[in-house]
Amino acid sequence: MNNNDFSHSLLKWYKDHKRQMPWRGEADPYKIWVSEIMLQQTRVEQATPYFQNFISLFPTVFDLANADQQEVLKAWEGLGYYSRARNLHTAAKTVVNEYDGELPDTYDEIIKLKGIGPYTAAAVTSIAFNKPNAVVDGNVIRVLTRYFGIEDDIRSTKTKNKVQDFANELIDEENPADFNQAMMEVGSIVCKPSNPNCSECPVHSGCVSFKMAKTDSIPYKSPAKKKPHYTIGVGIIEAENGKLLIALRPEDAMLGGLWEFPGGKQKDGEEIQQTVEREMNEELGVQVKAYKELMSLKHTYSHFSITMHAWMCKLVSGEPQPKSSQEIRWVKHAELEQYPFPKANKVLTERLMNKGQGELEI
Ligand code: SF4
Repeated sequence: MNNNDFSHSLLKWYKDHKRQMPWRGEADPYKIWVSEIMLQQTRVEQATPYFQNFISLFPTVFDLANADQQEVLKAWEGLGYYSRARNLHTAAKTVVNEYDGELPDTYDEIIKLKGIGPYTAAAVTSIAFNKPNAVVDGNVIRVLTRYFGIEDDIRSTKTKNKVQDFANELIDEENPADFNQAMMEVGSIVCKPSNPNCSECPVHSGCVSFKMAKTDSIPYKSPAKKKPHYTIGVGIIEAENGKLLIALRPEDAMLGGLWEFPGGKQKDGEEIQQTVEREMNEELGVQVKAYKELMSLKHTYSHFSITMHAWMCKLVSGEPQPKSSQEIRWVKHAELEQYPFPKANKVLTERLMNKGQGELEI
């Protein structure tokens, strides 16, 4: 199977088998860009309702550029990897201020925008502007390592570069938009991580792993390092008027720009109530009494996992100050849903608005 046959078979298959997605067939580069940012780290099914809501709130790059960051983060709430939303918002302002609202159409120019790396630059310029830039994501890596019988570790940059070179050679210069989407679609629905459906695959006649029965061992990925686990104590400080104290995370920190109940890591030898009381002192400059555990929950982030223990607290002395946050606010229970919270804190806000009981895993 030569490169032309590969491309021809792939495009023919794509025409007949592509799934419907709200951004597929879209001509507006802004919407294609938003969809590609959402699809980094997120599955199509999860991204779809977020995409539709996001576009209804911010239908043009001007609407996004003019929006308040809190509105943008609220629209992203629950999708994770919030730096994507902050960067998209910043880049929208750049597009409006420096490019008159027109997304740059070349790889070298678009990659200068915040939050756009090699994958997104190739995806947006090929899909929106039909430029022959080959995309390489996890799906494409799986298809091409299997197709060419590449047994090297796919965690290594050298292997990824090798796959990129193959993709650059294969890309259909006439129709790069469909070629790239077809590669990702084959990886997603045919060349699946386990039990690939090779008999239905448009390129199986040239596939080394299929011929050599190596689809179980290719792609090879070396074992991941074990993620550290932290125990976190969080304080929910309730004032006498019933209002709760929330804090805005620093802009440059993980989950920056989102709100949370203050807290931090348990130290060796510390009871969890002590952790909560110490953290309130360090983060807010106050003495509190942690008097009741509201709930605990487990949550996994990309590089670590946590068990969070949330304690109800009463102020004993002092006036809270935002020592570790951008800002603090006292809010009513019913107002909590107006603020963007990261997932673990969102569960707490829902509990505080009286939904569910017990230990949770999210
Ligand atoms: Fe993947 Fe099988 Fe197609 Fe090879 S033949 S690319 S292993 S689905």
